[in-house]
Parts: sequence; C-alpha cells; structure tokens
Amino acid sequence: MKIQKYDALVLGAGAAGLMCAIEAGKRGRRVAVLERAERPGKKILISGGGRCNFTNLHCRPENFISSNPHFAKSALARYTPSEFIALVEKHKIPYHEKTLGQLFCDRSAQDILGMLQTECAAAGVRVLTSVNVQEVTRGDEFAVNAGEMEFHAPVLVVATGGLSIPKMGATDFGYALARKFGVAIRDTRPGLVPLIFNAEDHRHFADLAGVSTEVIVACDGQSFREKMLVTHRGLSGPAILQISSYWKTSQPIRVDLAPDCEVTKRLQLPGSPRTIASIRSELQKVVPNRLASRWLETHTPSAWTNAALRETEREIHEWPFSPDGTEGYAKAEVTVGGVDTDELSAKTMESHKVPGLFFVGEVVDVTGHLGGFNFQWAWASGAAAGRAL
Ligand SMILES: Cc1cc2nc3c(=O)[nH]c(=O)nc-3n(C[C@H](O)[C@H](O)[C@H](O)COP(=O)(O)OP(=O)(O)OC[C@H]3O[C@@H](n4cnc5c(N)ncnc54)[C@H](O)[C@@H]3O)c2cc1C
Repeated sequence: MKIQKYDALVLGAGAAGLMCAIEAGKRGRRVAVLERAERPGKKILISGGGRCNFTNLHCRPENFISSNPHFAKSALARYTPSEFIALVEKHKIPYHEKTLGQLFCDRSAQDILGMLQTECAAAGVRVLTSVNVQEVTRGDEFAVNAGEMEFHAPVLVVATGGLSIPKMGATDFGYALARKFGVAIRDTRPGLVPLIFNAEDHRHFADLAGVSTEVIVACDGQSFREKMLVTHRGLSGPAILQISSYWKTSQPIRVDLAPDCEVTKRLQLPGSPRTIASIRSELQKVVPNRLASRWLETHTPSAWTNAALRETEREIHEWPFSPDGTEGYAKAEVTVGGVDTDELSAKTMESHKVPGLFFVGEVVDVTGHLGGFNFQWAWASGAAAGRAL
C-alpha cells in the first residue's frame, strides 16, 4: 500500500473544495483534493445553463435557508461577492449581470473552472481525479483509503456536495461520513426543484405546458415575485423553484396570478357588463390568454354581485396551489438540509466534536436562493475553512 502524506485532504473537487484548497495552498499548506469523478467541477460546467451564475451582487444572509439563519453570516461577510469578482477580473473573464444582481460568464462556465484550476496550480494544490474513496478513518491523523492508495493528513475537509442530480454522481457520501464521526444531520430534501400537479390541477392545466407569467408565490412566511412556468407535469420557472425550497408537503402555496392589479375593478363599477367574457378580457390583460381562460373555467364567479366579484378577486391573488410533490433530486438544483450547523464553527467550518474535520459547501445545512447564492456559499464556506487550515 502506497501512502501519501499531506497537510490537508479535501474530498470533492467542486466549487467549495477547490476554493478551500486554493486558500489553504496559498498559505503554504500541502493540499490534495481527492475527486471521485474523472474530472473536477462537473456541476460548475452545467450551472447557469452552461454560463455559471457564479455570484450575486445583492448577497445577504436572508438569501440563505438554514436551521440556524445566523450561521452563514460570518463566512459570507469574510468572503464577499466583490472578492470573487476581483478573482474573475484578475483572470480577465468576461461577465455580465443578467438580472437581479445575477452575474454570469459571457462565454462559458469553463472559464470559472479553468480559473479555479489555474489558481490551484499556482498554489501548489494537487487535484487527483478518479479517486475511489473507500474508507475514512482517524487515528493520529485522518487516513483516506482509496484502493491501492492511502492518503494521510491531520486535517480532512468534506466538500462532496449534496444529493441533487444523481446522474452526475451525487451520493450521500458526505452525510454518511458525518454520521460515522457522530456529526448530526438535518433532514434533507430537494430544493430549487419543479413541483408536480395534484390530479385535479393536472386535468385542468397540464395541456397549458409552456405558458409562463409573472406571479408572487408565498409559503412558510416567504414570498418571491418572478416568472412561473406551466409544464406537462406541474409548475416550474424561477418563482416556483425559489418557493420549492421552503415548501413542505401538506402546505399549499399561495399564488398571486395578477400582482398589483385589481382585475375585477372595472366590472364592479355601476353599469359595467358583468359576464364571463368581460372578466376574462380583464384577466387576459395581465395573465396569458389560455391560462386566464382556463383559470376562469375552474374559478367562475358564483354570482355577478360585488361580493362575489370581490371573492373572485381574492382567489386570483391567493390561488392555493397544493402540489403532489416535487420532481425530486433528479431535477433539483440543490439539497436543503445537511450537516447540522450547530456542529460546526461558523468561522472555520470545523466540527466541534471532531477537531480537524471540516465541512464546506452544499453538504452543510445552508442553502441559497436561486441566483448565484449557492456558489457564493461554496466560495465563502470554502475560503473560511481554507484560511483556517
Ligand atoms: C443544473 C444545476 C445548475 C446550477 N446552477 C447554479 C448557478 O448557476 N448558480 C449557483 O449559485 N448555483 C447553481 N447550482 C448549484 C451549485 O451547483 C451547487 O450549490 C454547488 O456546485 C455546490 O458546490 P459543492 O462544491 O458544495 O458541491 P459540488 O459542486 O456538487 O461538488 C462536490 C464534488 O464532490 C465529488 N464527490 C462526491 N462524492 C465524492 C467522494 N466520495 N469522493 C470524492 N469526491 C466526491 C463530486 O463528484 C463533486 O465533484 C446549480 C446546480 C445544478 C444541479
């Protein structure tokens, strides 16, 4: 058995692992990143539709979900979007703001991965791919057994990501390792994921697949105003992906189909025609024609009185959408939940119980909203650990 010794081992060459290794390498640590896949950063390459939404200019702690909403603050404050943007600019990577502070590469996500690999090389970090980690043990130091090779270091950083997109190799490795060392896990569920119609909504709306409209969706004390998209199976689009991270089965999601508009206002004026055609024409001013017509077929006013119109108005702004479920990890961008933040130092990401063991990135119970926040968490938590190794 060949044994290789390092100052620190990082499991997983994704966004968080590479950033952590770079920061530690820059401080003179001898670091090896052990990656199971045949190449590093696969998720970076598919992110943001291939252009990687690498950060968000308006990053605030409120953009993250965690059992402890204060946990992420320290790391986020010590590695800000400006710091990552400075790195991107140093590498002369062209980028643009798409919307709502979301920064994307002009060319391709490969620019970000290439930048991280260049930084790794400059910091003397070894990135080893196709490493099949079989066992991790801890004696005087951590030992990572990978078949014919064994890697030893006093410090181990777990950056193996979450459960989303198993087709790309996501597994529960990080959670299993945490459990093995007695580190608690908060229940995991798919986040930033399309939602599936219940049988009744499926009958009414599935054939409208492709229709999209701006809505406000609300659930569990959170709301988002963005586009909603009808699909063959349910609802998607940024508004739905955002709220999906907060949705728990049995809660309906409130959908405001016509934000800021009073659809029945004209109908309630004396002398206005009060017919299904007139209300449809009002709703069609703010909601795509087919969705407006279909929605009114299922929510026809019970009468043409002002009271009944007010009730329809309320329903337009508070449509209770009760999904049957989500499209699961196969379609989820992230995993909500993970390594319990109570177990970790907010400053360094080190386990309180197991000195030398760190968790960074998506494997931790910190999940960003859609819009570059998940990468910002990966950079910030990776840097926090890397600077402490
Ligand atoms: C389709 C899609 C698009 C996305 N787009 C964006 C976006 O534009 N902006 C944004 O902010 N976020 C986006 N995300 C989310 C973002 O990709 C993740 O939050 C981020 O990659 C998490 O980084 P990480 O380093 O923690 O984990 P990962 O990037 O998942 O990296 C984990 C690495 O660990 C490796 N690994 C796993 N198990 C082992 C093991 N046993 N041994 C060794 N290595 C192992 C994996 O192969 C992987 O390389 C997107 C996600 C998806 C699925």
